[in-house]
Amino acid sequence: MDYDVRSHLRQVKDSLSEDVCLVAISKFHPNEHIMAAYEEGQRVFGESHEQELARKHESLPADIIWHFIGHLQTNKVRFIVPYISMIESVDSIKLMREINKQAAKIDRVIDILIELHIAEEETKYGFTPDACRQLFVDGQWREMTNIRIRGLMMMASNTDDEAQIRSEFLQAKELFDEIKANHFAADDSFNLRSWGMSDDYPIACQCGSNMVRVGTLIFGPRVY
Ligand SMILES: *Cc1c(COP(=O)(O)O)cnc(C)c1O
Repeated sequence: MDYDVRSHLRQVKDSLSEDVCLVAISKFHPNEHIMAAYEEGQRVFGESHEQELARKHESLPADIIWHFIGHLQTNKVRFIVPYISMIESVDSIKLMREINKQAAKIDRVIDILIELHIAEEETKYGFTPDACRQLFVDGQWREMTNIRIRGLMMMASNTDDEAQIRSEFLQAKELFDEIKANHFAADDSFNLRSWGMSDDYPIACQCGSNMVRVGTLIFGPRVY
């Protein structure tokens, strides 16, 4: 292995405070690199494609905690629901319903995050802040007893403008606090704020993130 995954993982871990969960984003990286991180103690990994995740899940240690972080088509939900620990990228009510339905079939409760769309890019998936507010007000989620909404996830704009990135993270934090106060005041399980990637996680942590999704800094550049 040319790239020293273990020392890069250590550097990222050392830069995080203890209450921040590090999700090692291993998409497009081989099992060998994932195992290097695993041997360094990392257990939470994130993938964004169902088939790649299925292959890795089958061939890697069973105690790995897998997070799904990519756009998930409803017809793929049933394949990951038996083993996924968290689906961070829930971007529609239709997807929520499907996760709930498939989880009910096998008697599981799946942790999910609601993906926000705050960034300027039109390509990004997720609920706008208003759509997110509406989702919680509508209340259909309360009947979905096989999902548990753990918090919010978002990606900032892909820009060098630090003030812009900071302002987007702070918008997410404010929305989290609002939704927490309005709908989860008595529910400690709504407590996750997943923002921050390789380029911007230190800023994210200053803006209330407690779950960062870091790929490139740990595993090196992805070869697509
Ligand atoms: C790929 C990806 C990441 C990791 O990005 P890096 O820049 O490699 O750290 C984080 N979150 C999501 C949703 C991703 O798709």
